[in-house]
Amino acid sequence: MGRVVVILTTAAAVVACSVATVMVRRRVKRRRKWRKVVGLLKELEESFETPLERLRQMVDAIAVEMQAGLVSEGGSKLKMLLTFVDDLPNGSERGTYYALHLGGSYFRIIRVHLGGQRSSLEVQDIERHSIPTSLLNSTSEVLFDFLASSLQRFIEKEGHESISSQDVKRELAFTFSFPVKQTSLSSGVLIKWTKGFAISEMAGEDIAECLQGAVDRRGLDIHVAALVNDTVGALSYGHYHDPDTIAAVVFGTGSNACYLERTDAIIKCQNPRTTSGSMVVNMEWGNFWSSRLPRTSYDIELDAESLNSNDMGFEKMIGGMYLGDIVRRVILRMSQESDIFGPISSILSTPFVLRTNSVSAMHEDDTPELHEVAAILKHLGVPKVPLKVRKLVVKICDVVTRRAARLAAAGISGILKKVGRDGSGEGVGRRRSDKQMMKRTVVAVEGGLYSNYKMFREYMDEALIGILGEDVARHVVIKAMEDGSSIGSALLLASSHSVRTISNI
Ligand code: ADP
Ligand code: MG
Repeated sequence: MGRVVVILTTAAAVVACSVATVMVRRRVKRRRKWRKVVGLLKELEESFETPLERLRQMVDAIAVEMQAGLVSEGGSKLKMLLTFVDDLPNGSERGTYYALHLGGSYFRIIRVHLGGQRSSLEVQDIERHSIPTSLLNSTSEVLFDFLASSLQRFIEKEGHESISSQDVKRELAFTFSFPVKQTSLSSGVLIKWTKGFAISEMAGEDIAECLQGAVDRRGLDIHVAALVNDTVGALSYGHYHDPDTIAAVVFGTGSNACYLERTDAIIKCQNPRTTSGSMVVNMEWGNFWSSRLPRTSYDIELDAESLNSNDMGFEKMIGGMYLGDIVRRVILRMSQESDIFGPISSILSTPFVLRTNSVSAMHEDDTPELHEVAAILKHLGVPKVPLKVRKLVVKICDVVTRRAARLAAAGISGILKKVGRDGSGEGVGRRRSDKQMMKRTVVAVEGGLYSNYKMFREYMDEALIGILGEDVARHVVIKAMEDGSSIGSALLLASSHSVRTISNI
């Protein structure tokens, strides 16, 4: 009996020891895996780092590139496109105007009525629709017929008070969010598609003519009277409400900026013939490039797999179309190099499956158990990850978005430096007489990324203060303009009805 007890006790001890050994081994393995993940996270943080010193170097690089792009055509990756907009709306405009806005993800149609005073601006109707993905690589005819048919429906639902009953042709501004070489306020040719659009045989075509043709084929009584870059629309809207507005930036699917430049600084345009002595310049800043940009292996892979590789490098670090995909790439790499996310999900390997709105939802998840993060990961084929892994995902979102917002702040500061509103002196490529005390300076900002992503806004504001210093930043007002691009284009059309063609560029 005694021997049996001894044997059983020994056996139990052996089992206990083995179980303990297995558990310890597992724990050691788990710790090792976690340490690997912590190492990967550290690497990630380092490669995405944007210290102030580096941001300031970028500010200088942007101002220098802006100058180079103004001196000669092709002088910089920044195209610094002329817009032929010199007088911005001021509130005195009158009449009823339309705008059709083709963005990267949405198109919008609006009708505004202007009564001659700022306070009488009335947005009578506004429609916002997702752009069907089938259009992105369709044909010019399909795209413009789709836009014309949407316009037709918009007009058909107008009531009796509509402009048509007064027998006046409708005047429409076409707000276009892709690079165009303008030949006048009402015409311009497409330089290239961006943001995932790939409609062949359109580069070099007059965009306003394409829309007018589609509108005419449907027999609509609409005159496409202005072709307006979306940033220029936002600037117009900003200026309408606040004359201190000197620049506008869009943070939506893509990113771009425009600003008011003195004509004597636009050296590549010999005779801009503006009455105001200034002209709005569309920077097309999405294509900015500098060796100071913190380019990581994720950016390189994203670019290589994109439809427009070696192009739009800045946009690919800050545009809403891309942030989700950068986060996806980081999670995928971590799941390949450690199994903390479980078996590798095939969904996670699909480009663009993680959208930036999901990134902000995860980043701003304030539930103690991070339920939102868990739900989004589940959608990505990564169910049931422990809380510490969910926290890691939040951290990844933070790292990617913080870099984007800080680079965005450097971009804005670059414009301020160029025009001498960064507190450092007279500006780049401007006469010494421009040196002046820091004036109140308003930058209009528009776009779904900016308006919907609080952490992006907060990081951008923080970096602006860091770059400019509190004393200067106090004079810089960032003003959010919802639907500013569309409304502002209609305002711009109202304010500059006369169309001039300048050919001596
Ligand atoms: P468009 O680029 O077509 O003019 P928007 O300015 O509305 O349209 O921007 C849409 C983009 O904004 C989306 O593609 C997405 O990248 C980003 N976005 C929209 N909602 C959110 C959100 N909640 N959080 C973060 N980004 C968002
Ligand atoms: Mg937009």
